[in-house]
Amino acid sequence: MTDHFDVAIIGGGVVGCAIARDLSKHQLKIVVLERDTDVARGTSGKNSGVAHTGINVPTGSLKAKVNVRGAAMFESLCNELDVPYKQTGKLIVALDESQVPDLEAMQARGLANGVPILEIIDANEIKRLEPNITGHAAVHAPTAAVTCPYSLTIALAESAAENGVAVMLESPVTAISGDEGEFTITTPKGSINAGLIINSAGLGSDQVARMAGVERWKIYPCRGEYVILDRSVGDMITRMVYPVPPKGGAGLGIHITPTVDGNILLGPSTDYIENLDDVDTTVEVRKQLLKEASEFLPIISPRDVITAYSGIRPKLTSASEGGFGDFVIEEVPERPGMMHLVGIESPGLTAAPAIAVMMVDWVTEKLSPAANNDFKSGAHTAKRFREQPRNVQSDLVDNDPDYGRVICRCELVTKREILSAIENKLGARSINSIKYRSRSMMGRCQGGFCGPRIVDLLLENGVSYEELNLKGDGSWMFIDTSKGLRDAFEPESREEVTSR
Ligand SMILES: Cc1cc2nc3c(=O)[nH]c(=O)nc-3n(C[C@H](O)[C@H](O)[C@H](O)COP(=O)(O)OP(=O)(O)OC[C@H]3O[C@@H](n4cnc5c(N)ncnc54)[C@H](O)[C@@H]3O)c2cc1C
Repeated sequence: MTDHFDVAIIGGGVVGCAIARDLSKHQLKIVVLERDTDVARGTSGKNSGVAHTGINVPTGSLKAKVNVRGAAMFESLCNELDVPYKQTGKLIVALDESQVPDLEAMQARGLANGVPILEIIDANEIKRLEPNITGHAAVHAPTAAVTCPYSLTIALAESAAENGVAVMLESPVTAISGDEGEFTITTPKGSINAGLIINSAGLGSDQVARMAGVERWKIYPCRGEYVILDRSVGDMITRMVYPVPPKGGAGLGIHITPTVDGNILLGPSTDYIENLDDVDTTVEVRKQLLKEASEFLPIISPRDVITAYSGIRPKLTSASEGGFGDFVIEEVPERPGMMHLVGIESPGLTAAPAIAVMMVDWVTEKLSPAANNDFKSGAHTAKRFREQPRNVQSDLVDNDPDYGRVICRCELVTKREILSAIENKLGARSINSIKYRSRSMMGRCQGGFCGPRIVDLLLENGVSYEELNLKGDGSWMFIDTSKGLRDAFEPESREEVTSR
């Protein structure tokens, strides 16, 4: 018999997972359908991780509303889920007098949008706050903060799963039929039925809308590349440093962002691309990022770069139009019962908690569900050992010897944290799923030492050799036994040779 859910959420990014968790505070049968092997594999895992204040969004837009509302909810959500959150503040720096009117316009817009504090500071104050930064004047936004975007997405999904949400991974939605109350959603693993659908498929949201006969939107993928600087130079700045955004550009300009883990990010670039999955990084862009960032931070050296990554913006504006569209959050008349979230580019991470509230209101109005009095808030995995004070670390080790076994030396990740990532309801089953939950393999050696030990832990805890992969189908860790390989690659099998 086909499973029936009250609400199906398509997409396991930060928005879909925030919605799922908030809906699980009600007595509803909910499913998240994610095409990838894990949540947070799309844009939600690959961005700047900034909880934006709301300076850059047009006054009166839906973006401004959910940005400012989401930013106000962000700290308590991160605290509740034990996800890192650091209010670093932010400087938007003018390099010369000609950019000062842009600063004034941003300050006025931010205040109109409801940003609590914004001041314009001069070159001396910039130097006092950030001695390594060169600039003429700046907007100072002290309430801007950083988080770890993939940790937040995973924590939201884990919390949703602990509260009864079914998270179906490797389940790309390929077709949608039926009507409100009795939709049928098809995936290669089979079909499910759902009363309501929330299309939160990010880069795939226009395609999912089309599957339901809604032909209104087109997503233009726009790639942003970053480089990550080593933690050893992480104290070069303490605040985020942004340029004045390029006029008509598709992003906010190359900024310098201190991460919650003590690294520094440079990026993102803005390149419209054809392929939705093309998360390559390129040498040319890497050089461009270093060049542009060194205008503000001249002491950066290419030697500080440890790795690079990229994320893709689901833009509603094409390369020729430039700029930004507003978020689309709409139930359209041609397909009632289905809510479409389209064009959720930046500040979608910041806005996710506020978008979740909007979706709960929509579902509540339709279904009037009772409250789930058994809802369990809080984090559902082990504490990050490295971030605990010394006395807490010793208590953790005393109470659980697995906290005393360090698996990843670069990032000080313990066996307990890895086991906890495997054992919780959402359950990591690939090498990268462990990496993004625990930060193991993310340090200088990039998994050279701890990688094989993590493989062993997965194998000892229910993942088979055949199943074990890096990041999904096709990235197998083991292709055969050594005997099997020898037989496969030898031109003639042993039996044939010995029978001659
Ligand atoms: C370079 C860059 C920097 C950014 N910086 C910031 C920032 O600092 N602060 C901020 O607030 N925002 C930022 N953003 C924006 C933010 O990352 C996004 O708005 C947010 O992650 C969107 O989340 P989502 O859940 O809507 O989408 P996604 O994370 O893309 O999730 C959608 C999911 O749907 C899945 N999916 C797609 N099609 C299907 C299908 N047919 N069936 C099943 N599943 C499907 C995908 O696999 C994906 O996992 C940035 C974005 C980029 C690209």
